[in-house]
Amino acid sequence: MTLFSGPVFEMAAEQFAAVADHLSIPEDERPRLLLPKRAIAVSVPIHKDDGRTHVFQGYRVQHHLTLGPTKGGTRFSPDLNIGEVAALAIWMSWKCALAGLPYGGAKGGVACDPLTLSRRELEAVTRRYMQEMIPFVGPQIDVMAPDMGTNEQTMAWFMDTYSMHQGNAVAEIVTGKPVAMGGTLGRSEATGRGVAFLVAEALKCCQLSASQCTAIVQGFGNVGRSTALILSNEMGLRVTGISDHTAAFYDAKGLPISQMAAYATQHGVLKGWSTEAETDPDTFLTLPCDVLVPAAVERVITGKNAAQLRCRILAEGANGPTTPEADRILDQRSNDLFIVPDILCNSGGVIVSYFEWVQDLQRLFWTEQEVRDRLQTILKTTFNAVINRAKVDQVSHRVAATAIGIERVRMGKQWRGLFP
Ligand code: GLU
Repeated sequence: MTLFSGPVFEMAAEQFAAVADHLSIPEDERPRLLLPKRAIAVSVPIHKDDGRTHVFQGYRVQHHLTLGPTKGGTRFSPDLNIGEVAALAIWMSWKCALAGLPYGGAKGGVACDPLTLSRRELEAVTRRYMQEMIPFVGPQIDVMAPDMGTNEQTMAWFMDTYSMHQGNAVAEIVTGKPVAMGGTLGRSEATGRGVAFLVAEALKCCQLSASQCTAIVQGFGNVGRSTALILSNEMGLRVTGISDHTAAFYDAKGLPISQMAAYATQHGVLKGWSTEAETDPDTFLTLPCDVLVPAAVERVITGKNAAQLRCRILAEGANGPTTPEADRILDQRSNDLFIVPDILCNSGGVIVSYFEWVQDLQRLFWTEQEVRDRLQTILKTTFNAVINRAKVDQVSHRVAATAIGIERVRMGKQWRGLFP
């Protein structure tokens, strides 16, 4: 029982325990690796448009500070709680270490529904949250980025609030900013581009050809949308299923992704795009396809539906989409199911965030091609490392990926020692 208790934190703890067993990490060393270094909870009061005052709850969890500043997204979602934020921070640590980035993991956010707030209210929440975080963040301490419910406008307001406090423009305080104010080319689509690149690598391993394959993507936010667009428009897969939190659509002949993206941009949601192609969201993930990309929330592949998945490749665009119970079922299916685990699959986002931070610190900006090439180099190396490790240790891709991440953090802690 800890401050963080709850289903998502327990899931991160269970995954950690399994990998710690595999690595034979002594019991007394485990809490030092697992438990977050700092957890911050703040009240975020704002004036609503009707003149009343409302207080939102905000959080930031910084998992470890061993290898550099902490790094991770900021989530605005109604049910956000500190356990979920802590789990997401822990996964960020293994993700950054796996990709070889000099960061610890962090995550934060505000328990609010951005869709029900006016633009003025959203700006007030965003600025006040950053104001409350100023003692705890900095370009060498903790660097925020977008996550669910936040975007480049949120990052621009964060950067402005922090910079007004400092008295000069501090672009390197956040990543995922608009390019016009120190963002990097290629960041907005980076997570989706990474997912699509790793799908291509997985297809090669399974000896499948993209033009003969179908894909289903759950989630049509930044990650789901860019993944679906690249899979369909650049790689030639037939995307047969798309969903968001309001509706799910399936068409065996293939869906017009660009048209759906334009609809979602105009209406904010997919609901209403078509009635013909609408399908049951509860059975959406078990529809037949070659590539399944969960790119929405945690814990959607569970003990209940894992055995029914009918994909060949599971590419986890979301953080924590697969529960440990589902994992035990999927482990039995390693002959017919190739998993690209979340901390590898969606790492394109934080890798390009790292590029943005480096460019901001150097005041030297790269071309989009340079960003893409460097992203692919890291993803390819990491993908190969995970596949090899899984073979050598005879473990799942998830255990292999997490083991590499945990080992690197552990090694850093061992070399630095315990202070004082
Ligand atoms: N929120 C993203 C993630 O979960 C990106 C984090 C970042 O760019 O720092 O990986």
